[in-house]
Formats: sequence, C-alpha cells, structure tokens
Amino acid sequence: MTNMRGDGSEIRLPFPQPQSPGEIRELAPGLLWLRMPLPLRLNHVNIWLLEEPDGWTAIDTGLHHDATYEIWGKVESELFRGKPLRRLLATHGHTDHCGIASWMVQKFDVPFMTTHTEWLAARVRIIDESRPISERTKHFAQVHDCDYAMVESFIAHRKLMAPMLAEQPRSIVEIREGEALTLGQREWRVMVCGGHADAHASLYCENDGILIAGDQILQRISPMIGVFPDRPRGNPLRDYLGSLPRFLDLPSDLLVLPGHGVPFYGLHVRTQELMQHHEERLADLLAHLDQPRSASSCTRHLFDHAVREGQSRLALAETLAHLNYLVHDGQVQRSFNDDGQLAFIRSDLGT
Ligand SMILES: [Zn+2]
Repeated sequence: MTNMRGDGSEIRLPFPQPQSPGEIRELAPGLLWLRMPLPLRLNHVNIWLLEEPDGWTAIDTGLHHDATYEIWGKVESELFRGKPLRRLLATHGHTDHCGIASWMVQKFDVPFMTTHTEWLAARVRIIDESRPISERTKHFAQVHDCDYAMVESFIAHRKLMAPMLAEQPRSIVEIREGEALTLGQREWRVMVCGGHADAHASLYCENDGILIAGDQILQRISPMIGVFPDRPRGNPLRDYLGSLPRFLDLPSDLLVLPGHGVPFYGLHVRTQELMQHHEERLADLLAHLDQPRSASSCTRHLFDHAVREGQSRLALAETLAHLNYLVHDGQVQRSFNDDGQLAFIRSDLGT
C-alpha cells in the first residue's frame, strides 16, 4: 500500500475500480470495504467492517431496502463466519448511513454508537418524512417563488423515501468530539463536524494514517450542504466551511475512506478543492444578486442542469445554504416583496 501513497500533493486512488455492489475488499489488515447499493441516483454507500479479536465492528448500514438485508445476510454467513457483530457505529443520521440500524441492533444484539444529535435527527426525520408534505413546506415553496416542477420535486422525494424509512434504535452509546475509541484493534479519534449533518462523526487513526471521513469529505462529489423547510434561517455552510481547516491540520498522506466514491490519498488537495468549490459558488451568487432575486431564480442560475433533471429540491436547498451564508455574513440582504416572497440582493446595492 505504501508505494501507492504518494506525498499527498495530488489525489491518488489506490483502488480506482470499485468492486461490484455487495462485494467486499480488504484495504488493510482487519479493515474491509463493503460497497452497499442504494436504489437512488447516488447508487451506493460505503460500509467499513473492522475485524475484532472476538468479532466485527460495522460502520454505517445502508438503507431500508430488500437488497440491503440480503447483503447483510451474505456478509454474516460468508464473512463473519460465526464471529459475531460486536457493535454498529453510524457516522451520521442520514438514512443511507443508518437506515437499518434498528434491525441490526436487534438481529445482532449489539450497541448502536453515534452522536446524540445525529440519533435525534434520524428519529425526527422519520416522523417528518412519513407524513404528507406539511403547510410549512408549502409556505417555504411559496416564499421562494418555486414553480410547479420544484414543488413536484419535493413531493416526489417524499414518495420515493417514505418506503425506505425504518425505525431507529431506541438507545445509543453516545460518541463525542475528541473521544478515543478502540475499534478493529486500532485507536481512533472522533471528529464531530457540522454542515452536511449537524454532528457528523469522522474517525481518525493516527498510527496507521487512516481517516474514515464519512460524508464530511467526499472523493468526487461535494457533500450536500442544504437548507430545508424545517430550518429556513439555518447556516450549515458556515458550519461546513468552519470544519474544513480541521482536515488541513491532519497529515496530508492519510488513506481517506469516504461515505461515497472510492478511497483516496490527497486529503489536503481534496479539502482545498471543496473550499474553493464553495467560494466560487458564493462569488457566482453574489454577482447574480445585482438586483433583487428569489431563491428559485438563484437556483436556476447556479444549478440549471440539476433543475432540468428533476433535482430541484436539493438544488434549492444548496442554493439557500449559500444565500443564508451570505445573509449571515452581511454581504446579502433579504426582504419580502409585495407578493410575500423573499428577495435577495447584494447589501451594497440594497436599501
Ligand atoms: Zn451519504
């Protein structure tokens, strides 16, 4: 593995071809990578399996969907081979990462480890998303001047996800920022960061130079940073950008294990790319706000392609994350127009 590491000054992929969905690959002694399929546009999530002297630790689960259960059954019979699962850890509370946590906790009789905030968020999401679209969401769409296609995108998402939600465990073993964990015979330090999720946990093993990054740092796509109807004034982009320097403080030559995509070297390069990506988007948005514009107008400006592909919900959420960042930072003003819709404009041009 060493000869593939490089010096961290560029992105290097030690396993550029991912294995087939449901297949497992050993990355280092006692550290295995399971690529779990997702029946979504983002078609897989990475699960990490850590071998213990007396069993296994699993990190993340996949979502509530037939194939996920089948694959976990296969892992149990072919990989675990009578050695029990000892614990399950979730990096965060999004359903692709902890969707079947409750089933696993019961089936294997194991503790569920995650941050308190992410556990609560996962439980609240199930309550919210198993109900029809709320008045709050309709108001959100109206305030942001969403057209019919955008509203449809919210409804379609609800219909798609509702059957893939399952109960969350009723208790957790809480993990916290800075905590040291021994998992798979390695020592890991917990790094809790916001932005993509409120309290996402990444795990850093200094001795072996490994970072289980989860969705905080992804290899190819940028982690979704979004503002949704439940927290319309939120500023997750501030939390996300605030977290990135922490990854620049880690060694540059770590093997990074992201929640999606393939493992890579080049943590600092990738972190800087993510910073630059958001800075460019903020600059683009500021230039667009030379006159009062709705969030929908900004969404079509930034994400025209995504909107045309039916991804309006996420595109609007990402746009609002950038708009709210600029509003909180004082660079943009927001005000209601006569139609009760929110308009955004650069502060130096506003009233
Ligand atoms: Zn994810």
